[in-house]
Amino acid sequence: MVATARTQQEIKIGPTQLLINNEWVESISGKRFETLNPATGEVICDVAEADAPDVDKAVSAAKKAFTSGQWPKISARERGELLYKLADLIEAHKEELARLESLDNGKPITESLSMDLPFVIACYRYYAGWADKIQGKTIPINGPYFCYTRHEPVGVVGQIIPWNFPLLMQAWKLAPALAAGNTIVLKTAEQTPLSALRIGELIIEAGFPPGVVNILSGYGPTAGAAISKHMDIDKVAFTGSTEVGHLIMEAAAKSNLKRVTLELGGKSPSIVFADADLDYTIKGVHHGLFFNQGQCCNAGSRLFVEEKCYDEFVAKSVELAKQRMVGDPFDANTKQGPQVDQAQFDKVMSYIESGMRQGANLVTGGHRVGERGYFIEPTVFADVQDEMQIAQEEIFGPVMSIIKFKDIDEVIERANKTIYGLAAGVWTKDISKALAIANNVRAGTVWVNCYHAFDTAAPFGGFKQSGMGRELGEYGLQQYTEVKTVTVKL
Ligand code: NAD
Repeated sequence: MVATARTQQEIKIGPTQLLINNEWVESISGKRFETLNPATGEVICDVAEADAPDVDKAVSAAKKAFTSGQWPKISARERGELLYKLADLIEAHKEELARLESLDNGKPITESLSMDLPFVIACYRYYAGWADKIQGKTIPINGPYFCYTRHEPVGVVGQIIPWNFPLLMQAWKLAPALAAGNTIVLKTAEQTPLSALRIGELIIEAGFPPGVVNILSGYGPTAGAAISKHMDIDKVAFTGSTEVGHLIMEAAAKSNLKRVTLELGGKSPSIVFADADLDYTIKGVHHGLFFNQGQCCNAGSRLFVEEKCYDEFVAKSVELAKQRMVGDPFDANTKQGPQVDQAQFDKVMSYIESGMRQGANLVTGGHRVGERGYFIEPTVFADVQDEMQIAQEEIFGPVMSIIKFKDIDEVIERANKTIYGLAAGVWTKDISKALAIANNVRAGTVWVNCYHAFDTAAPFGGFKQSGMGRELGEYGLQQYTEVKTVTVKL
């Protein structure tokens, strides 16, 4: 049932070196590391491993590109045209990129093709359109002065991305930063380096000048840490765990006070009232939790269901979970592929054990699927209590925790009892209840009668320990500019 070696051989891998100054180079140490196919556990290939000296080299290329060379001479409109060209190239290669993404990450090919790639292309096109619309204000200050603001690029930007949506996270980072005129050193996640490198080839083909985009494969404590403490990086944008988010901020504070934006973990409440259209809602919350093997920072992983419809809701959710097809990411019928690696597999399995140990009711799933690869059954726990580990901590896997509630005030209070604040969902036909939840739950995004309803134009980011700053939309662009005030004596 898992991706065959033949499938793997049929997929074009692309470059495996580091992209620095528009050249493909080995790492200074000469070290390489393996990337695995999560469906089989087999090695796909190895890639060059960046460490601090490679980060130095990439940063000096990015710094040079920012201050001299062609990039500063390129007009805002031309920057937009380069981004449009990149989007067109990605579109022209979308099947190939989708296959590479599914091979390295394990996500079903149907989703890479229908979700990841279209969103990636839309993101580059959206920010391409912004490039020549980034403008300041004229400000009527006192006295004989003419005062205006310029929105200038921040400079050299370090970007560190995770493995759950490798191409999409790369797009969310590169597109706004490039539209605003920054230069970039981007480090991919060690689990999924391949698709980003192939985009590197397309970046060169699109005509971006040397040094504008540098792409490094490497590990967090080495290459990632070197980025977050680098004295010549002006801003770091990070997506990943809250734990590492703390380290990034600390490194920024101890080095050069570089700007920091963070998109971190979550334990997002999804709140179902008994008056909701239950059949529709059950499908919606199922998608909200199980999508992408449960590996979404915004997954609706604390599912609060009103007492009056709790038993029916649990029974129907279990039916749906049982029907979810787990298997070969390259089979068109597959809905759920493997977890990304052994470490994530082990972590999810240990949360399932903890749920059972702490007395939650395991209604379906809970086991591995098959003998190789990192597949886990869609798992549902009922009778989950707020203080249980599975209700408090980010599982990042296909494990649904269903919790009972009685009334709206109580559920708002309980929904907010978390260190996180990334997203929330509410399911009801009563607009007053929906807006009471939307106004009172402390989260960066609230979805009403839908979940994972992303758009490149709508900002996304976290309250509390789910992050700082916003990505996407105009708000996302602002994180890549500095405001300069110019005052002219008349
Ligand atoms: P992680 O935070 O360790 O890794 C994310 C990125 O940060 C990777 O590129 C990694 O190499 C880098 N990194 C790791 N340590 C670093 C350091 N000291 N300095 C700089 N960069 C560093 O996440 P993970 O280990 O891959 O996954 C662990 C958990 O993180 C998951 O179980 C999940 O809860 C969460 N996670 C969240 C997201 C998200 O989208 N918010 C994505 C992936 C993982």
